[in-house]
Amino acid sequence: MGQMALIVTNPATEETIAEIESAGVEETDAAVARATAAFNGWRAVAPADRARLLRRLATLVEENGEELARIESQNVGKPIAGARAEVGMVAQVFHFYAGAVDKHYGQTIPVAGGVDITFREPLGVVGLIVPWNFPLNISSWKLGPALACGNTVVLKPAELTPLSALRLEQLILEAGIPEGVVNVVVGPGRVVGQRLVEHPDVAKIGFTGSTEIGRGVMQGAAGTIKRVTLELGGKSANVVFADADLEKAAAAAPYAVFDNAGQDCCARSRILVQKSVYDRFLDLLIEATRRVRVGDPRDEATEMGPLISAGHREKVASYVNDTVSAFTGEAPEGAGFWYPCTLVEASNDDRIAREEVFGPVAALIPFDDEEDAVRIANDTPYGLSGSIWTENGARALRVARALESGVLSINSNSSVRPSTPFGGVKQSGFGRELGMHALDGYSEIKNVYLATG
Ligand code: NDP
Repeated sequence: MGQMALIVTNPATEETIAEIESAGVEETDAAVARATAAFNGWRAVAPADRARLLRRLATLVEENGEELARIESQNVGKPIAGARAEVGMVAQVFHFYAGAVDKHYGQTIPVAGGVDITFREPLGVVGLIVPWNFPLNISSWKLGPALACGNTVVLKPAELTPLSALRLEQLILEAGIPEGVVNVVVGPGRVVGQRLVEHPDVAKIGFTGSTEIGRGVMQGAAGTIKRVTLELGGKSANVVFADADLEKAAAAAPYAVFDNAGQDCCARSRILVQKSVYDRFLDLLIEATRRVRVGDPRDEATEMGPLISAGHREKVASYVNDTVSAFTGEAPEGAGFWYPCTLVEASNDDRIAREEVFGPVAALIPFDDEEDAVRIANDTPYGLSGSIWTENGARALRVARALESGVLSINSNSSVRPSTPFGGVKQSGFGRELGMHALDGYSEIKNVYLATG
């Protein structure tokens, strides 16, 4: 039975923007049943036709880009310019997987006495559980490879941010993807998400969210030996060596933490700076942080909006309350879950440097030399992303090889592109999204041996 109505709020104004009937176990089971019924038809669609349908979806996302960007901006509090860029990436992701449909194939393997062939087969119904920080983007990262491989889907957006997924579901049907192939279910994670994790007819869970809930997903999936891909939290390091282009590194560093108001699993929220340039870098960083434009997400010039909710703002504040800030920026007052850009000088043992704050808060940590930098950067349970700033190419690659992280960038903040693998190590999870690598997580290899003797 459906639960109560779900109130969807604009975090920049605290106004209600939608009321949606919240789904429960019964609706989740019905969605799984629809996806199960659609599976044989969808897996049999000729690869070229599946590619054409995904291409059409990508085009529809482009054609409706402004509307999708406004929905995302209103529901998450994202600055409109950034929301537009995110929707652009969603279209690129669907274009990429349209092109990938017929390029992910099996092999023939030399064996004695016959022929050995591998097939790439879809898993069946996959449950995709998406968080509130990048609702449309993260949905596309999972939908693209899942559909390209011939799976059918039940997609659960976060309760706080269901609106873009509901609009995307309409576009999926408009693109001509048959009914039942993608089913969006809006309801609480502990009900709808949990049911998907335990449902015997769901073959795999693609999950993005906190490490804590991810741990529960892994445990819940054990009952039915479900496949899982987990994209979890991060506490990534932005390592600035004395031989870096300091102006460039300092100009970029704020956007590595304050983009999406810090609600980003890739946030480089530990800024490690070599001691010999620490004071100079801090001055430059404060100057650059002062320039981050915080305010109304509808304003084209805005670079940072509010946090997602009042509860989340309280959590973010709890990390800063006991510290002395090196810099606190400005944030609007009144309605909206605003929080200012904050820089804190810390040790890597402090709580603020160990836990994922998920807000516009960066911890600055000094280091002695390359060895010390690698030690501190790796001294965390997480391993998702990070940056290395140095003009010494050999050092850049040496440190990149030494850091325990799934995704790194050198002299850049960039973490995600449609064609390159994204995901974590350690407690940041496992499995890869995006690129051709994601297709491995949404297909199974079948081996067939034919005796010719
Ligand atoms: P959660 O991990 O709680 O939520 C992520 C998704 O999982 C949501 O769709 C949520 O649904 C769903 N979910 C919740 N409980 C269950 C469950 N028992 N079984 C299956 N699915 C479930 O993250 P939060 O949104 O609460 O954020 C908390 C913290 O997690 C943040 O402060 C941040 O530190 C981290 N986080 C990290 C993200 C990342 O990208 N790495 C993304 C989001 C959060 P619903 O929200 O509807 O309950």
